[in-house]
Amino acid sequence: MVSTSKAYNSFEVTQIQFDRIADILNLDAATRDLLRVPMREYHFSIPVHMDDGRVNVFRGFRIQHNDARGPCKGGIRFHPQETVDTVRALAMLMTWKCAVVDIPLGGSKGGVICDPHNLSAREQELICRGWVRQVARNVGPTIDVPAPDVMTTPQHMLWMLDEWEAIHGEKGPGFITGKPVGSGGSLGRTEATGFGLIFTLREALRELGVKVSDTLASVQGFGNVAQYAVRLYRQLGGTVIGVSSWDQVDKVSYFFRKLDGVDPDTLLKITDRFGGIDKDKARGEGYEVLPGDAWIEQEVDVLVPAALENQINGDTVPRIHQRVKVLAEGANGPTTPDADTVLRDRGMFVIPDFLGNAGGVTCSYFEQVQSNTNYYWDKDEVLGKLDLKMTSAFLAVSELARREKLFMRDAAYVIAVSRVAKACKDRGWV
Ligand code: NAD
Repeated sequence: MVSTSKAYNSFEVTQIQFDRIADILNLDAATRDLLRVPMREYHFSIPVHMDDGRVNVFRGFRIQHNDARGPCKGGIRFHPQETVDTVRALAMLMTWKCAVVDIPLGGSKGGVICDPHNLSAREQELICRGWVRQVARNVGPTIDVPAPDVMTTPQHMLWMLDEWEAIHGEKGPGFITGKPVGSGGSLGRTEATGFGLIFTLREALRELGVKVSDTLASVQGFGNVAQYAVRLYRQLGGTVIGVSSWDQVDKVSYFFRKLDGVDPDTLLKITDRFGGIDKDKARGEGYEVLPGDAWIEQEVDVLVPAALENQINGDTVPRIHQRVKVLAEGANGPTTPDADTVLRDRGMFVIPDFLGNAGGVTCSYFEQVQSNTNYYWDKDEVLGKLDLKMTSAFLAVSELARREKLFMRDAAYVIAVSRVAKACKDRGWV
């Protein structure tokens, strides 16, 4: 089959999206120039004495897109295919994500070109400490606050915190988030992204006049985001007819379908720590095992991409069933710009990624607040505050979309970009 889907550079995509919104908002030239590119970029080398006696030099990055609304916030990725443009794009998205949920933070992202699968724990620790040493003066609780991301863990965050505190000669638990609970981490962080997505979906269905208990959903992924999204959606009365996951052995994805509703507790027992479901055991539990891409063509009311980027593209978008009313984006960048145009023309109600999955960064912000004050909240308090933040962010976006007849993604961008542009103007930068 000839592919109709284009290959996209993620930084170009974020710039194209920004330019559209800058036109809608009629932004002046200086504000456009400021917001189209990151304000600061750090590119550096991290020499590491490897276990076999050689010295390997790893490339590291920290990119701060904009801090007009507060200290920057963004994860650190360890990935063999990391590129500066991916980090730039993700830093810019963090600026919009923090702004759309109205938390007083800017946007940043970091990375190291490396593959933790091929590194010992000691080597990973040296990369973490080396990363902090290179930017120790340019990150901190009131400057820029990192967090875990692709292939980085709470343990990595603790090593980084320890190095930052050693350099500065003081305790500073608010320097980094995603720490283990008991070592400065927040309760509720594990649930935050999946639950946050369902808080916004609940409001979307309310707005469409549909009861959650009358809806069916199909989900791509069964990792952190999807597991908690499925759990809360079921608690609200919805039925998930299937989830997909990547099979490490067969090197393909499968869709696990049960038309009367999947049971996350049963599935969790047969899921590995990477979110991969055992297909033979799933068959034994009464699940149909279909090709992984079947998730997108199910006759359901709600689609939840919660695995990877670029899954709804020029090739796959025509396969979405007419019954689907809401696309709730849990993954980052699951929809390509060409597919987005099709969704817009079709009148699909989209909960855009940087709104839908902002529960994670919102809870990281709560962790920062708790760490800075050295006072920790119970889980109900964290999740209650999360619901409030996500619901009010969703309502502001959907109200603007209705009033100005905007596509939901554009409405979310309009709110985020105008908040950041206003902060830049109020500070006298532009
Ligand atoms: P995860 O690694 O815990 O889970 C990923 C899931 O996707 C696994 O079940 C895996 O088997 C599945 N998967 C991988 N390749 C697949 C394929 N080709 N087809 C079908 N399934 C496949 O990841 P996560 O933390 O749940 O994150 C999922 C997405 O959400 C990512 O895009 C991530 O950037 C985004 N996100 C996550 C958070 C968070 O707090 N975890 C916050 C914001 C955004």
